[in-house]
Amino acid sequence: MDRDFDIIIVGGGITGASILFTLSRFSKAKRILLMEKYNSYAQINSNSRNNAQTLHFGDIETNYTIEKARKVKHSAEVLLKYINSLPRKRKDDIMRICQKMVLAVGEEEIESLEKTFSKEMHALFPSLKMLTRKEIAMVEPAVVKGRKEEEKIASLYSRTGYMVDFGKLTKSFASDADNARKVNKPKVIFGTKVTNVQSRADSYLLHTNKGEFSARFVIFAAGSYSLYFAKSMGYDKNLSILSVGGNFYYSKNVLRGKVYRVQIGGVPFAAVHADPDITNPNVTRFGPTVTVPIELERYHFDTFRDYFRTFDIDIPTIISLKNIFLSGDTRDIILRNATYDIPLIGKYAFLKKEVQKIVPSLGYSDIRMAGKIGGIRPQLIDKEKRELLLGESKIRGDNIIFNITPSPGATSCLYNSLGDAKEATDAIGVDFDEHGFKETYCPFDR
Ligand SMILES: Cc1cc2nc3c(=O)[nH]c(=O)nc-3n(C[C@H](O)[C@H](O)[C@H](O)COP(=O)(O)OP(=O)(O)OC[C@H]3O[C@@H](n4cnc5c(N)ncnc54)[C@H](O)[C@@H]3O)c2cc1C
Repeated sequence: MDRDFDIIIVGGGITGASILFTLSRFSKAKRILLMEKYNSYAQINSNSRNNAQTLHFGDIETNYTIEKARKVKHSAEVLLKYINSLPRKRKDDIMRICQKMVLAVGEEEIESLEKTFSKEMHALFPSLKMLTRKEIAMVEPAVVKGRKEEEKIASLYSRTGYMVDFGKLTKSFASDADNARKVNKPKVIFGTKVTNVQSRADSYLLHTNKGEFSARFVIFAAGSYSLYFAKSMGYDKNLSILSVGGNFYYSKNVLRGKVYRVQIGGVPFAAVHADPDITNPNVTRFGPTVTVPIELERYHFDTFRDYFRTFDIDIPTIISLKNIFLSGDTRDIILRNATYDIPLIGKYAFLKKEVQKIVPSLGYSDIRMAGKIGGIRPQLIDKEKRELLLGESKIRGDNIIFNITPSPGATSCLYNSLGDAKEATDAIGVDFDEHGFKETYCPFDR
């Protein structure tokens, strides 16, 4: 087996696979390797079971600022361009169009939604419309059926939303990476776990369970483990990780599209929303809840020890946690969600506080907890600023990059891959066709 590479990507989720694709198709790097510790692509957060399957545009995510909405919309359009270029059957397997709305329940939320729907928002999302209760009843009847007349509702609605199977999309990137070349095809090895990284004069040595590999440039696309390795190499010691898990509940399919709830600005966790499931047309999913598991990968209890290595229990972390948990909005969300995990009572509380806010006619026996569904959002704590960081983060070292990717990391993957591919090819001195990438996937930037 060849063990010396120009670029090694660690992690076979959607981030790693999209970087592999961009490098294979648009660069002249000859020896590219992706290594993944499990035996297939997308086994962790990129798996369709573990995320909300939403192509985020920033229009129904009311916790985003307008700048963030603009950025996320751009990334979503780049990804959409890739998906739309796929052969029909593959495209239909990966993505479906469905309507979407953000629902405000009660006067306070309606007022907040009206404020969100500013002139700027309208200009950014011209197809977004404010709907009254009567109009909501026409497009999404289950939201109105059985709702008390005195409970006021309004919504921002768009006919065009997208549900995406990010697991299948990961495999599509990998297969297109391979198809992009006749020679110097990228190599992919599964069942290969990186255990340690050593910096040498002009390369890195990666120790794995399958021996050593070297690379002139390394890109970590390993989810929470990216921070684990960054810290083990002495980078960004001021960052710590707060694993935010999320469970989902199922009911029979009651909705036509996605129904998000008004979210509090500055809080990184999405409020519970209702989504169709692209892998199962018979159900509606409600979630994700917010849990704080002590592991780096959901339902992988063996990641517990690594969690503490990444978390760092020191005074700045404890003060940061105190600030985060004592800040009204975040604390309220975490405490409310904690009750949802209490046996029996938890399901009742979830029904009353979340499910019936969206679909009032659903009862206790109509919902069930989805077993082993839902991943972990690796939210970063900035120990210097003593606060939670919003969205994805990238730590840059000397010829090494670490990508840490909470939501909307799957939506942003292809556009983010451009930055990594450029940086890696620049560093090792090979050509990268940035113009070709932009002409193909961002023609709207012209
Ligand atoms: C509940 C929830 C809902 C979400 N909903 C959405 C959504 O609707 N839309 C959206 O855009 N985003 C959403 N996200 C975020 C999205 O799922 C992630 O941003 C995205 O999947 C991250 O992809 P990734 O490839 O970076 O990480 P992952 O998919 O986690 O992949 C990391 C890979 O690295 C591998 N790895 C780790 N350590 C090693 C090692 N030592 N050696 C070798 N390989 C290793 C892992 O096995 C894994 O395959 C959601 C996340 C969660 C948790």
